[in-house]
Amino acid sequence: MLLNITTTHQPATDLGYLLHKHPDRCQTFSTTFGKASVFYPEANRDRCTAALLLDIDPVSLVRGKSKSSSERTLEQYVNDRPYVASSFLSVAIANVFSTALSGHCHNLPELVNMAIPLTVSLPVLPCRGGETFLRQLFEPLGYQITAQSLPLDEQFPDWGNSLYFVVSLQNTIRLSDLLSHLYVLMPVLDDDKHYWVGDDEVEKLLRHGEGWLGNHPERERITNRYLKRQRRLTRMALEQLIAEDEVDLEEKDVIQAQEEEAIEQRISLNQQRIETVVAKLKQLGAKRVVDLGCGEGKLVRSLLRENCFEQIAGVDVSYRALEIAKERLNRDYLSARQQDSLQLIQGSLTYRDDRLNDYDAATLIEVIEHLDLNRLAAMERVVFEFARPKSVIITTPNIEYNVRFENLPNGKLRHRDHRFEWTRAEFQSWANQVAEQFGYAVEFHGIGTEDLELGYPTQMGIFRR
Ligand code: SAH
Repeated sequence: MLLNITTTHQPATDLGYLLHKHPDRCQTFSTTFGKASVFYPEANRDRCTAALLLDIDPVSLVRGKSKSSSERTLEQYVNDRPYVASSFLSVAIANVFSTALSGHCHNLPELVNMAIPLTVSLPVLPCRGGETFLRQLFEPLGYQITAQSLPLDEQFPDWGNSLYFVVSLQNTIRLSDLLSHLYVLMPVLDDDKHYWVGDDEVEKLLRHGEGWLGNHPERERITNRYLKRQRRLTRMALEQLIAEDEVDLEEKDVIQAQEEEAIEQRISLNQQRIETVVAKLKQLGAKRVVDLGCGEGKLVRSLLRENCFEQIAGVDVSYRALEIAKERLNRDYLSARQQDSLQLIQGSLTYRDDRLNDYDAATLIEVIEHLDLNRLAAMERVVFEFARPKSVIITTPNIEYNVRFENLPNGKLRHRDHRFEWTRAEFQSWANQVAEQFGYAVEFHGIGTEDLELGYPTQMGIFRR
């Protein structure tokens, strides 16, 4: 069984540091089920591939174990285990790449947190649930997938295809996240874990699923299969996943939104942002608008007051924020026409969602800085590749301006949940790259009172197809 991981990040041979395996050497490790070797079929400045080769000995797995009569079959000797990516490969990743999986690198600590271009190729991946399930698992995490199913027998095309696929997965992502995704999802696809699953598997799932599984649209199926369909364990894991998700995205956001407002209050930036965005949407001639990360619905309420917007949707991951939005809108006594044009949707911007299709414009007002940097690429694809509205308006803080906020301590971000805040150069470079990648043109504006040296407090990018 072979797993290849390739990067084109430069210098590509830094992959050796990240994996803690020298590109010039071939190393072999013993495991309980056979041998695992790591070597580099190619290693140069532009491209580097690390291979993990498993040599599983199915016979030694069987011998020396007492068997119940139901297990006395030949299948335990002759099976697909030596050839396919399965829970054995996950165990090998955890053993051989443990430091990389946990996101540590003594020599290049800054590279650990960097999203870098990575491609995984798996020559034989069993996909119980087919290509559709494979896509449902990896696409929400931002992967580009190619999958080719293998015929059952080339000599007998009538027999059709097997459930094994040649798969390549491509993403710009932190290596530790990629390894965590593989660690959890390969056994889920195979649906046939080789070892007994007990309470400690729940802990492993939560540890390796941290930061992505709680929000994943397939979290129930993943958890159920990962825990070998043991109901008690599945329930335990899901309860914790859902609880973490809610604490993470709801309580914190509502309280902290108020803190952010207090910092920016003096110039009522929030109001200026909304007015500017409404004016821009009118200029763009947008009739159907979706506000992504709508929070408590301030922009949605302003859009409803205008007659020119025919369809308005607010999307947020936080159920609590949407409840507040709904309550406030109810107090506005909406007319029947306004009610008809409005939709509030719970969903995440980092997962492809067909409900976001067919809008003229999408807005992300002070939202991107709430996403982990390594999830930005997923959001970019969801918005610019799949939903693909004619225009997209994005606003985000200009970190250079922060020193002008008297009540914001030096070096602090405006909101505790902000994962980053960007300088003008950083925002523009990101936005230009997104525009180019997805076939949009982008122009930049500022919102608030301009400081000649530091620019505007809020920066805005307007993307047009
Ligand atoms: N646009 C609003 C709210 C900004 S606060 C305004 O300008 O007032 C950021 C919002 O993004 C929060 O409501 C938060 O719940 C939402 N958010 C964070 N991550 C998200 C994700 N992955 N998908 C959808 N919404 C998200």
